[in-house]
Amino acid sequence: MPVIKHIFVTGGVTSSLGKGIIAASLGRLLLSRGYRITIQKLDPYINIDPGTMNPIEHGECFVTDDGAETDLDLGHYERFLDITTTQANNTTTGKVYHHVITKERRGDYLGKTVQVIPHITDEIKQCIFDLEQQNLDIIITEIGGCVGDIESLPFIEAIRQVKWEYGEKNCLVIHLTLLPYLHSTQEIKTKPTQHSVKKLLETGIQPDILICRTSHTITPSIRQKISLFCNVAKQDVIEAKDVDTIYAVPLSLHKEGFDLRVLEKLSLSKYKPLNMNKWDKLLQHYYHPSHTIHVGIVGKYTILPDAYKSITEALCHAGMHLKCKINIHFLDAEKINKEYIDQHFPLLEGVIVAPGFGNRGIQGKIRIIKHVRENHIPFLGICLGMQCAVVEFAQNVLGWKNASSTEYDPQTPYPVIDLMEKQKNIIHKGGSMRLGAHPCALRKHTKTWQAYKKENIKERHRHRYEFNYKYLAQFEQKGMQAVGINPENKLIEIVEIFHHPFFIGTQFHPEYKSTVLNPHPLFIQFIHTILLSCKN
Ligand code: GLN
Repeated sequence: MPVIKHIFVTGGVTSSLGKGIIAASLGRLLLSRGYRITIQKLDPYINIDPGTMNPIEHGECFVTDDGAETDLDLGHYERFLDITTTQANNTTTGKVYHHVITKERRGDYLGKTVQVIPHITDEIKQCIFDLEQQNLDIIITEIGGCVGDIESLPFIEAIRQVKWEYGEKNCLVIHLTLLPYLHSTQEIKTKPTQHSVKKLLETGIQPDILICRTSHTITPSIRQKISLFCNVAKQDVIEAKDVDTIYAVPLSLHKEGFDLRVLEKLSLSKYKPLNMNKWDKLLQHYYHPSHTIHVGIVGKYTILPDAYKSITEALCHAGMHLKCKINIHFLDAEKINKEYIDQHFPLLEGVIVAPGFGNRGIQGKIRIIKHVRENHIPFLGICLGMQCAVVEFAQNVLGWKNASSTEYDPQTPYPVIDLMEKQKNIIHKGGSMRLGAHPCALRKHTKTWQAYKKENIKERHRHRYEFNYKYLAQFEQKGMQAVGINPENKLIEIVEIFHHPFFIGTQFHPEYKSTVLNPHPLFIQFIHTILLSCKN
């Protein structure tokens, strides 16, 4: 049986250089040559998963089909590669220690002293190898953080061991660094890259390929210098110049010869030709749009757009398909009052009310939903956004002034959104929501059904509260319809107002399933409706 090849992606100099995008871009290039690929992320933090982290600190929590709450980079992997990731594609220090301590308590170590080396590093290696059970040619593993971080040391040691055991033809380390440009002297500096490679060498790892993020083109002499001081051949110093969109990264790395160098080093020289035609066509749509529209995203984590990563990317995918540039405006829910709405409309042609938790910003969300409902402005409410739309409808159409969700008003006389029965006795916060993909049956001849063009769908969830079924008849009588229902437990997953160009609220997160090549139908329909109303 051929050996599954491993590629590790590490980073140096600073965080946020885009290791996830580099890993996903490499994955896309190899996949487009016909290789079977998956990507995983190893995160050195101690949380078991990012599910309990504040999105302002860590960005969005991405949810997989199998209900794992994972790092947002898994979203990039799915969006670039059109693959479905699972629980097994994200490992954290917390998860590793949890496994090891559970085994120790069970007596599995037979009286041995349990140590970082070999027990923690063996557990990390096991997580890396677990993916080998799938039918794959190559596994790409991204390591979070920077080399030199204390907490990433066991991960780096695990890679060193894998590299040693698998041999250089079967295992590569790709190191991403930054080449800062000094405006005063007008030169690119290589010292931080040299230092970060030295840090990696201290741990016993010689990187095989260096990817250098830069705002300016690397000259041959700079390349020569990096090559000499980092022990990496000149052709393995790959320039990653800043580009306008993350979706341009695969082709720009390909122009630098990146994928070919990887294949040669892994002795996979019988590569098939690269087929990125569809991707390139979409990219051309991005660069040459026929329309421009303005969409607002209302939320309370707006100071960090990464908190809404999958939503902004899903909008971008729909825009690329419809040749439409979408200007996204983040609206801070806490600031929304009448003046704020007057100031931002009529610029905004569509509004998304984002997911979220807790009380803060709810009034602003309800105000803006009233505005878009009454003024026939296309609206998509996602999870908490859908719940706010239900509350708004109860207050302003059904006339139940104190209607609310028991999440932010436990004493409300009209609990139109209420805690799910199964959630009532849960104390632990981590991994205990309604998570992952659940089926949903769509009502025919609705806008939602027109978007999906099928009756049975599966979408990903992450919530504790739901539409309170006992009020459904009153809602439907006044015009808010339940158009998507879970066939197993009858939970209401989608609401829609028919007498409106586009007013849809989903209890699930459609944004998690949008990819570059397969944009999400609801986002397509949402943008399509905006384009139609702009033309009128
Ligand atoms: N806070 C709401 C709930 O728990 C919505 C969650 C969300 O928007 N993801 O049901």
